[in-house]
Amino acid sequence: MINKREVKPILHRQKCKNCDFYTIYQAVPVGDKAIDTCTHCQYAVEIPWDHEIKAAFKNKEKFLKGLEEFYPEIAELKNPGDHISLDD
Ligand SMILES: [Zn+2]
Repeated sequence: MINKREVKPILHRQKCKNCDFYTIYQAVPVGDKAIDTCTHCQYAVEIPWDHEIKAAFKNKEKFLKGLEEFYPEIAELKNPGDHISLDD
């Protein structure tokens, strides 16, 4: 019998390579991989799911927290589908 672990999707913020907005991404773990999907444009990438990726998410969060000081809009990224552009 397969030991099925309950893993919840993780929401994290990042700049989307596809739509170029800062958006909410949803990472859905599947075994040792995860499908990471932009909740704005639905662009999806497969990423390895390990301790490193979780650390990378945390680092990104730290980086974005720092940016909030200059771009308060980033703090508004909270719900799936939220997206902002900082390019002006
Ligand atoms: Zn996108």
